[in-house]
Amino acid sequence: MGSPAAVEAVARIVGHARTEHQVAIIVSAMSGVTDALLRGAHTAAAGDGSTFGIIAGELIARHGAAAAELVGDADECRALHAATERLLTEFQTLCHGIHVLGELTPRALDTIGALGERLNAPLVAAALRTKGIKAQAIDAATLIRTDDRFGDATPLMAETEAQVNAELRPLLEQGYVPVITGFLGATANGITTTLGRGGSDYSAAVIGASLNADTVIFYKEVDGVLTTDPRVVPEARVLRRLAYDEISELAYFGAKVLHPKTIQPLVEKNIPVHFKNTFNPEHPGTVVMPRGEAGAGAIKAVTAIRNLTMLTVAGRGMLGVPGIAARTFTAVARIHASVLMISQASSEQSICFVIPSKLANDVKQSLERELANELARRDIDGVFLQDQAVIISVVGAGIRTTPGIAGRIFAALGDVGINIHAIALGSSECSISLVVDANDADTAVRAIHPLTARVETTTPQLV
Ligand code: ASP
Ligand code: MG
Repeated sequence: MGSPAAVEAVARIVGHARTEHQVAIIVSAMSGVTDALLRGAHTAAAGDGSTFGIIAGELIARHGAAAAELVGDADECRALHAATERLLTEFQTLCHGIHVLGELTPRALDTIGALGERLNAPLVAAALRTKGIKAQAIDAATLIRTDDRFGDATPLMAETEAQVNAELRPLLEQGYVPVITGFLGATANGITTTLGRGGSDYSAAVIGASLNADTVIFYKEVDGVLTTDPRVVPEARVLRRLAYDEISELAYFGAKVLHPKTIQPLVEKNIPVHFKNTFNPEHPGTVVMPRGEAGAGAIKAVTAIRNLTMLTVAGRGMLGVPGIAARTFTAVARIHASVLMISQASSEQSICFVIPSKLANDVKQSLERELANELARRDIDGVFLQDQAVIISVVGAGIRTTPGIAGRIFAALGDVGINIHAIALGSSECSISLVVDANDADTAVRAIHPLTARVETTTPQLV
């Protein structure tokens, strides 16, 4: 939803799709708008009484220009302009209050953050009407019921399903295309919540699952999910099919497709998920589906997750002593560091794990405090930190069940002289993760990529 050009492309896609299907669309804010709104709130809380007014002016201008470009009818334009002004007056009133109080609550932040989608959905709906599509903007506060964890609210599926079916079904049956605000929902008391940054994808999954949709299509600006990062491997290809648990591993390992929880509502109902390119909708993209239907191709993709540090807690005194692992990870959790990978040798003389580098020193100190007695007694030799680590994650549902795959991965790395520091098998049984030096990461990805199955991929098209 970045630009008027994107809205034009969406109009073409919807116009085409609705000749054969009932279509509901979920829209995010225009690009950068959520950030601008939140910046207004934060600067107001920090004592700055003028920035939010400037931001409001910019947003009025930007939405007004988009409306002028996309919406033909003069009455529609006037109505949109009035709605935009009303929302941005609300923004300024809220920011003024925050400025006076010097306090910004998560609840206020959600009301402000959600304005971006509330500005955009009526604009997109009017743009679709200009193209002759019967469209109607819908505020998701009337559809998605959530708990009250502001900033990261969880949809309550039973209530949401009831609301979605009561409100959307009749519209769909009358041939309307509902244009629904992504990202936001509301508590039982009608207070606006948001589902976390980038949450419009999650909104689409929640609404698609509630409607028991035939499919949910996520339109991005790439052709689909790739076998690897094309900046590292120019031969990277678009994967035609993936299993739900494969996409979860890819999402987790930095492929930036989406957060694993995002598609969970669709996985539970076995609803296929498509990834397609807004600007190249003829490309078939990637379909994500239950494992049995997704094709067996052993290795589907390889990704690198960077800026990591490997920590090792080592010492002979750990052998057979219960509780060291538990205390180690308690100390890590105190720093709120998420652990990306763990491996422990069966000799029990070391535990090693990988965390984001920016937290490494804090975690090391926390561990040294927790294990101070063991360190003093020399039961533990020390907490060792290896900077510049990269996890190479090799993903594919066939990896664990196809004999010899791990051997081929290690041989490929051995052939190019890469030293592997640690190995872990993904718990979903469809990935292997390896820790290598940052200097070796690109070489490792290039060495493994030829092992990705040639079947069911297409070469990305230039648009
Ligand atoms: N507009 C929201 C954000 O920027 C949600 C989204 O883009 O999906 O986080
Ligand atoms: Mg956004």
